[in-house]
Amino acid sequence: MTTVKHERSLIDSLLDPTGPELGDDFLALCGERNRLFVEQLRAEEEAARQVETRQIYRAEHPLVGVLAIQGDYAAHAEALAEAGAEPVEVRKPEQLADLDGLILPGGESTTVLRFLDKMNFFEALKSFGAAKPVFGTCAGAILLAREVLNPAQRSLGLLDAVVERNAYGRQIDSAILMAETALAGGPLEMVFIRAPRLVQIGPGVEVLARRDDAPVLVRQGSVMAATFHPELSVDRRVHRLFVESVIAAGCVADSK
Ligand code: GLN
Repeated sequence: MTTVKHERSLIDSLLDPTGPELGDDFLALCGERNRLFVEQLRAEEEAARQVETRQIYRAEHPLVGVLAIQGDYAAHAEALAEAGAEPVEVRKPEQLADLDGLILPGGESTTVLRFLDKMNFFEALKSFGAAKPVFGTCAGAILLAREVLNPAQRSLGLLDAVVERNAYGRQIDSAILMAETALAGGPLEMVFIRAPRLVQIGPGVEVLARRDDAPVLVRQGSVMAATFHPELSVDRRVHRLFVESVIAAGCVADSK
């Protein structure tokens, strides 16, 4: 601030026809101006470089939210970080605007649904899922489905599937299975906990893994769903697949 003030009075005196001859003061002023100009250029260049670095980082490490209402969201956040994303716990609808993708974790879908309604989250999630990649696991898959049975409950309708809650008999409702899937790299461990079953899927839904005959890992465009809990296994292939689809969809930073 003082430099500017000093500069002003110097300019005034230099412009004054009755003022002193142009001499050392004038040269000093030119030097100071050049210095300020170069400094400003450097600062602008540095700011542009930082924005670009952030954009490059974000394009490779997208910001992926995990709905952190109930269930094992912390394990999902860890899995996302290991799969190369920047995880963020989401508790308010306003947070969605910044995200490149979102995971709806397992838990109790009825409880989550109640919370979504209370927080005015339901519609916000619906529009988010129509525009950005979403991945629902177990209760999250139930929330994504077009229709829910046993008992019927409201859902987001982002995945063209009918899902039956708690669909496996008492003894086998929780199980750890190893099975071949469409993912490269051999059999995948799948942890089922009071799992739902996809009893019907639309023609646009791609099946990536099955348990007996029922699909357990599916994808429809940028919507992914698993009836098991990939976050509870060490294997990160499923999260990596989701993060890759988020990267492919482009990140928020691209459009800013
Ligand atoms: N049984 C739960 C439900 O119906 C889902 C179980 C889970 O997410 N592990 O919502």
